[in-house]
Amino acid sequence: MISRRMDKIDSSGIRKVFNLSKEMKNPIDLSIGQPDFDVPDRIKEEAIKAMRDGFNKYTKTEGIPELRKRIAKKLKEENNIQVSPDNILVTSGVSGGLLLAFNALLDKGDEVIIPDPYFVMYKHLVNFIEAVPRYVDTYPDFGLDIDRINRAINKKTKVIILNSPGNPTGNVYSKEELEQIRDLAKEHDLVIISDEVYEKFIYEKAYFSIGSIYEKTITLNGFSKAYAMTGWRIGYAAGPLEIIQEMAKLQQYSFVCAPSFAQKAALIALDCDVSEHIKRYKEKRDLVYAGLKDHFHVQKPKGGFYIFPEVNKNLSATEFVKKAIENNVLIIPGNIFSEKDTNFRISFATSNDIIEKGVEILNEISTS
Ligand code: PLP
Repeated sequence: MISRRMDKIDSSGIRKVFNLSKEMKNPIDLSIGQPDFDVPDRIKEEAIKAMRDGFNKYTKTEGIPELRKRIAKKLKEENNIQVSPDNILVTSGVSGGLLLAFNALLDKGDEVIIPDPYFVMYKHLVNFIEAVPRYVDTYPDFGLDIDRINRAINKKTKVIILNSPGNPTGNVYSKEELEQIRDLAKEHDLVIISDEVYEKFIYEKAYFSIGSIYEKTITLNGFSKAYAMTGWRIGYAAGPLEIIQEMAKLQQYSFVCAPSFAQKAALIALDCDVSEHIKRYKEKRDLVYAGLKDHFHVQKPKGGFYIFPEVNKNLSATEFVKKAIENNVLIIPGNIFSEKDTNFRISFATSNDIIEKGVEILNEISTS
């Protein structure tokens, strides 16, 4: 019954972890990919009001005009990306934007540069559409090595995908790194897809968007992480008109539009200040890093809400995760996000108490 294309999506790694974790009763869960806070009340009220007012029908495929206008303003003011509302497509989350962008840009055999480790969807979506992922190893510090990226580029290369702050690494690219990537992209006429969904979770210096210095960038962002609206499925893509229009064409025959009430609520979200949550997450980042650093090789995350330590024993990450699960701690092995199986991902989007308990057990396993 099933198309051969579906074989190109390999979900066996994640499935294995979930199978192992099924037996766990009340686990110390350090695997969660969403904030531990709830959607701010103002945003909820707006969504409810929209529904009560009858704003429940299809919207324009591109998104409601006032939201596109507000997103263009946000990008100008906060990211220094100069776009007009016409360059904005409201999507069903960043995931929706990724699917549309890959389909609009890539033919069978086209190559995509993916810094490794990477967000899990990139690999499988690229494979699904029969484009070719070209992984560029960024271990151990997860920065962009321009020479390595340069060597991975060939005549078939069409896209570089960047994710900063990164899932699973917590790395944030510097302006200097991004300027170098821009030069490379310009030289080879590549499109950059910049996944900025963790933009608000930034702990060191100001955030820099590559879309502000390179016109052929599709900037993807959304409301899932900053405003905890993961289930509302709303995000946006901003970029060259030619590409955005093609993405809209595909959206018309797939997602149709992003959820109507969520679009109204997103308009309010862009005026909400989430800095108190970010302050709390910085403390969590400090807590988890301080707890692990004497036991593991680990980079201090500069953003996001994940940390990606290296297993310090003669074990693969998968074996280490198995031991953690036997000790009631749920973490994710690195090979879900990487061609290597040396590190594991901890999400610190949870209570300080759970972080402390989990770190203590992981440290014990590492020395036992
Ligand atoms: N991009 C990255 C790097 C993510 O980690 C996630 C979610 O975990 C997404 C995109 C998906 O975001 P959305 O909920 O907006 O589809």
